[in-house]
Amino acid sequence: MVVQYYDPFHECMPLAELVSYSERRLVETRTMERASRSLLYQERWATAGVLPSEICSYADLRRIPLTNGSHIRQALERFDPQQLVCSESVRLWASTSGTTGMPKWIPRADEDLAFSREMIGRFAYMGTGGPKELPVGVLGGGATLGFNAPAPAVTDALPATSALDGMLLQLPGETIPINYTEAEDALLFSLRRKPQYFVAFPSIAMRVAEVLGAQAPAAARRELAERFTLTRLLAYLVTRVKKIRPRDLLPFQWGVFSGEPLEPYRQAIRQAFGFEPSDAYASTEFLGMMRDCFRHEGIHLWLDCCLAELLPEEEIERTEANPEYLPRTIPIWKADPGQRGDLVVTNFAQAFPLVRYRTSDLVQVVSAQCCACGRTHPRIRILHRSDDVVNVGIARFSIVDLQQQLEGAPGLQRWQLRVGRTGYKPRMVLQAEVSPRPAEEAAWKKQALERLLSVGDLRVAFDNRLILEPIIEIVSALAEQRTYSGKLRRVIYEEDTGSQGGNDGTLN
Ligand SMILES: [Zn+2]
Repeated sequence: MVVQYYDPFHECMPLAELVSYSERRLVETRTMERASRSLLYQERWATAGVLPSEICSYADLRRIPLTNGSHIRQALERFDPQQLVCSESVRLWASTSGTTGMPKWIPRADEDLAFSREMIGRFAYMGTGGPKELPVGVLGGGATLGFNAPAPAVTDALPATSALDGMLLQLPGETIPINYTEAEDALLFSLRRKPQYFVAFPSIAMRVAEVLGAQAPAAARRELAERFTLTRLLAYLVTRVKKIRPRDLLPFQWGVFSGEPLEPYRQAIRQAFGFEPSDAYASTEFLGMMRDCFRHEGIHLWLDCCLAELLPEEEIERTEANPEYLPRTIPIWKADPGQRGDLVVTNFAQAFPLVRYRTSDLVQVVSAQCCACGRTHPRIRILHRSDDVVNVGIARFSIVDLQQQLEGAPGLQRWQLRVGRTGYKPRMVLQAEVSPRPAEEAAWKKQALERLLSVGDLRVAFDNRLILEPIIEIVSALAEQRTYSGKLRRVIYEEDTGSQGGNDGTLN
């Protein structure tokens, strides 16, 4: 087995060297000085007495207050965008989806786009190591089917921008980027183009698998009517006598999945599509895309491109109890395997450097040991959001919005939402203490269900069968689970409590 690297020098640099390399870059790129021009940081850094010239290492960073998504939103509201930009010129503004209200707009300079391009180079080579997983450049082309979210979620336009990067890097291959709201047409077209690679959200991939299973006979019949061949007749007959699997129609060689954790879908995707799926992580704020290697043992976090820290779960709770508290973090390479917390990053971006940016993505450290692929960068798994955004598969909503909706439910005292799965499908159970107990329980539950489905994009997700119908339960007392500061937990992820349902990858 030959492992290929895009940039072997940086990808395989010993960990200790990597750490000092990124500390050196922090100084040489003058990131702190550049960031201090932005009104995003100025006020809070001045209050904390931060002198940018004194920040040269992981240890120094600890003196700087954390910045999070709300800080960016507030800064965008308060200031002229130009007062947040740290470079001479901007080439592109990228926006987040704005689940919790206002989208965040992030500027990128030419240097940032060049950096992202380098990361696409690494990305393309990450799957090397198995006979089926050669990079596009080695295979000499082939089509990639990429499912995106609708505009303006620019993060999700990554397959399209990556295709441009691929052109600039002269990686061969074609891309079919498709908005998942037009999935049906897209699938019929893709059947004809026979893409070899697949980029999607895991839940969308499995929905594709379900739709294909249901629609394959019709599609095969249509093809047969258009032009009769023996192969097509056989294909048609096959769809009649056995349960069609997407792997029979779309012979993908590999697929990369992001936007939600791959883990609960892994087995189902493997069964449906016949390849070992890869896990990827990207965000609009943080430049570059990261993914797992052919070992599939966690996403490699590029330590030469950022200084990465872990904000442990107990520290997150302390911060919730007291927003002024300066929490203690651990450099990610010092965290124990299995340790969980928020990912905090400092990068060297030109237009919008992140300095101790708390992503609010809860991650689990897999290992900081050198990987079997030869790469030395620590490996992590992305679990879910740690702020007031709730992930239910691909669907997201804010707890604040849900609270507002539920306030109108008659007699509702306290509630708790449990987010779990049945098979790979996300499922929510809303438990409610209601007093007085409603005379018409069924009607009350129906109304509560409507209120729940009205937040975020739950309705769309439910209508498109990306999540199962939420269950509403009226209980006499909630099973109390409290935070460090004693507050009742509003949302309980069953994967956190170990009460996760079966992961049998049921394909309906
Ligand atoms: Zn690896």
